[in-house]
Amino acid sequence: MLQLSGVIDTGTILIRGARQLLTLRGARGPRRAAELGELGIIPDGGLLIRDGVLVQVGPTRRVENLAGARGAVEINAAGKVVMPGFVDSHTHLVFPPPGNAGLAEESAAARLRSSTGQRLGGRIRTILEAMARHGTTTVEAKTGCGMDESAELKALRVLAAFVEDPLEVIPTFLLRLPDENGERTLEWALNELLPKIRRRNLAQFADLAWSDRQPVHAGFLKYLEGARNLGLRCKIHADGEAPAAVAMGLDHLVVSVDHLERARESEVAALAGASVVATLLPVPVWRTDGLFPPARDLVERGAAVALASNFNAHHTPTLSMQTVIALACLQMGLAPEQAIAAATINGAHALGCADRIGSLEPGKATTRSFWRPATIASWPASSASTWFTRRSRTAGSSTNRAKWGRATRRTCVPPGRVSVP
Ligand SMILES: [Zn+2]
Repeated sequence: MLQLSGVIDTGTILIRGARQLLTLRGARGPRRAAELGELGIIPDGGLLIRDGVLVQVGPTRRVENLAGARGAVEINAAGKVVMPGFVDSHTHLVFPPPGNAGLAEESAAARLRSSTGQRLGGRIRTILEAMARHGTTTVEAKTGCGMDESAELKALRVLAAFVEDPLEVIPTFLLRLPDENGERTLEWALNELLPKIRRRNLAQFADLAWSDRQPVHAGFLKYLEGARNLGLRCKIHADGEAPAAVAMGLDHLVVSVDHLERARESEVAALAGASVVATLLPVPVWRTDGLFPPARDLVERGAAVALASNFNAHHTPTLSMQTVIALACLQMGLAPEQAIAAATINGAHALGCADRIGSLEPGKATTRSFWRPATIASWPASSASTWFTRRSRTAGSSTNRAKWGRATRRTCVPPGRVSVP
């Protein structure tokens, strides 16, 4: 038996006999409308992986007879669904910091600032490992510490240290304006903090917590333009009134507009066919006023829809993308197939990395999830066993070598045939 979460650093791996192999192969862009429900299922499917990269996908009989499969470590996935790992493209993993429930934002930022990086990193690691056990293999993590530069930089440094262990973390700087001095905060973020973040390569995205206060909208435009000029991709955190946020997101071609609980017909129409991904978060309704975003309307009108957890250690502590999918099906009316695509390949599009993750296609990275149910029709009464493979690294900094060394010691896969528990 394998451990629930294991790591193979290198070598050739043959996964064989999956009752349903969900490839998610398809068009290059985000999946929308009818395409969203097409998972590219191969019955009795197999995969061949070499050094962390997917080499072949197809019926088991064909894949296992390839010359390259000789001598591979075999993983028997008989009776299981095999699919890409979940891409959780919207979380508040690092702020407010875990373990400090109920603090106001300023106090939470002060607590983060005074915490050691090691202590904060340890808490984050515990959450990441739990996410991995639930099938997530890539997670986006936002900051949002307000005008506290040291807290912001510490949060980003802690996130950047995770690289791919225990899973891939994509850091995002989230600008959150205080009630007072909004313009001054925007200027500071744009002229001082963002250039520093960019120089140190600490974030991949610049996000914007939307505010309905009209006077700051001109500043928002400058922020999006400035972030883009620095080479950061942009997102909008639109959990207030949606129309202006959606319009600005479309005008400035941000990668995604997120939340959208209050989106109405006009926003649905605006997002139809747009390249901007609408990232929907079914879990936070437990703490707001019960409003779900109009997921079915968005899908039917051809918007690119992704699903994410909005994990927040204080008020949205759900880290399981399985729960997100279950809620999306039960409360938002998506079909399981649509929810799976929204939580994998479209999540990858919401992070601008669908060229390397989100589907099982030759050339892509091979983080995988194995599912207990016999078919996806068993959803959502399921639980996951997650399996990771990683590209081997023969060169790199001493820091990287140390990390890989730790991972190697955790590897527990003998050569020969093994079964997924
Ligand atoms: Zn959020």
